[in-house]
Amino acid sequence: MEKVKTCARCKKTMPLSKFNKAKSEKYGVKCYCKKCQALYQYEWRKKNQDKVKNYKEKDKKRDKGYVRKRPILFKSDTHKECATCGAIHPRRMFQKVKDYERIHCISCYSKKRRLYHRAYLKKNKNL
Ligand SMILES: [Zn+2]
Ligand SMILES: [Zn+2]
Repeated sequence: MEKVKTCARCKKTMPLSKFNKAKSEKYGVKCYCKKCQALYQYEWRKKNQDKVKNYKEKDKKRDKGYVRKRPILFKSDTHKECATCGAIHPRRMFQKVKDYERIHCISCYSKKRRLYHRAYLKKNKNL
């Protein structure tokens, strides 16, 4: 006679062939039938997916927070350190936009703009 086992989930008694093998278990099979096991794994994965997603989002937030942290730049009433070239220029070398003063000096900023502009043109050519 074929050995049977009751599934711990759906409570149906089925032959052992309906269960996935598991060496660590008493009967050499899992306590859930194949169908329940698949369902269980699916649900578990679904739950876990949210967890993984949350972790990822937390990581993203942490990364953003890290990126937002700017290097400590030298700053005085008359001079300021450029975030790009690292040189200390007079404050007039930093363009002011509304109440915000750029962290890059005029020459670095225009260089950046040129590069950006070039990349933009290149991109548009390819379109
Ligand atoms: Zn079952
Ligand atoms: Zn600069």
